Amino acid sequence: MALVNEHFLKLPGNYLFADIAKRVQTFKRMHPKAEVISLGIGDVTRPLAQAVRDAMHGAVDEMGDAGTFRGYSPDQGYAFLIDAIVKHDYASRGVSLDAGEVFISDGAKSDCGNIGDILSQDNCVGVTDPIYPVYVDSNVMGGRSGELEDSKWSNLIYIPCTEKNRFIPEIPDRRMDVLYLCYPNNPTGASITREALKKWVDYALENNILIMYDAAYEAFIQDPEMPHSIYEVKDAKKVAIEFRSFSKTAGFTGVRCGYTIVPKDLKGFTVNGETVSLNQLWSRRQGTKFNGTSYITQRGAEAVYTPEGAAQVKEVIAYYMGNARIMKEGLAGAGLTVASGGDNAPYLWIKTPDGVSSWAFFDQMLHGARVVGTPGVGFGPSGEGYIRLTSFGTRENCMEAMERIYKWMK
Ligand SMILES: *Cc1c(COP(=O)(O)O)cnc(C)c1O
Repeated sequence: MALVNEHFLKLPGNYLFADIAKRVQTFKRMHPKAEVISLGIGDVTRPLAQAVRDAMHGAVDEMGDAGTFRGYSPDQGYAFLIDAIVKHDYASRGVSLDAGEVFISDGAKSDCGNIGDILSQDNCVGVTDPIYPVYVDSNVMGGRSGELEDSKWSNLIYIPCTEKNRFIPEIPDRRMDVLYLCYPNNPTGASITREALKKWVDYALENNILIMYDAAYEAFIQDPEMPHSIYEVKDAKKVAIEFRSFSKTAGFTGVRCGYTIVPKDLKGFTVNGETVSLNQLWSRRQGTKFNGTSYITQRGAEAVYTPEGAAQVKEVIAYYMGNARIMKEGLAGAGLTVASGGDNAPYLWIKTPDGVSSWAFFDQMLHGARVVGTPGVGFGPSGEGYIRLTSFGTRENCMEAMERIYKWMK
């Protein structure tokens, strides 16, 4: 008799996007001629860069020739990609990494979700609120959440990110062992300064806290003063794991490639207080359960770091950030409050007018402007009263949506 991991049974269904789809469908049935624009999607729309495609085509041909065919990738990824990451993403920002600290994967969602494998079930976990749901749900599966009470898990520590703290969390007074941070943030679009990040790193150093730092949106940072990596803060290698992805940076959501940095200085503890290298544990975990990202994909990712690839990828990011600027101005012009985001992230976090709920505003905007957003409350209790819009759509749709919202609000 196979007993199940009953922690899975605690998870409520993932109703957010299903609920949205259902409401949009119902609206379309009632208004068959209405064209609905979605600014709710968290997926990219621009095609892969030419340099990436060329590299992948070349890799396919190599795979078709017995002389250059490749089988399994090295456990942590190919040296050509790891070296490019170390040089272009870190050394260029004053961070020195050892190749053995970089783990290539099929994306950041897998890594943020799987990292719990190497951590005890008894850790107390802190999350910012609102949040990317993967951090919470994977800890529910891992048995660290407790029970769901009033839309909060009893054993998780929720650190609110609200207008009052300008969506940058304040250090809580409750003890925790593991903390998830994501900057630039999904869903609020907030970005963190070096000083604010340093406070968290220092707090983690003083209290033996492990920070899971999700930097999936670092490529969208426009402000030259903002840190792209947590390791730009002194001694962060002693307390933080960093997740990165080519998904949003280079349109790899369908190609699948990301990487995780687990520094060799990073220590976990046994119950007896002995220290253990988290790098070794993660290496062991990946070696057992993961057989690598495809050669073709890794060659495609490597091309992002060539001069041509870098320029092409930058152009796509500029396109999305151009959308964000148009949206930010358009929404403000329509009388809405963009509470956060749009400057260093492809997300805009909009306060609903007159204190209406996230879902009520979602419906009002759908019916009034035929524009779809994502209700903020779907990302956590502190998201109530907000709606998230993304700048990942086409320029035409963004402009049309802003016009509609303007007319509707007037
Ligand atoms: C999109 C996203 C990722 C990237 O996920 P992939 O699995 O690499 O596609 C990671 N973290 C956050 C917060 C995201 O929004």
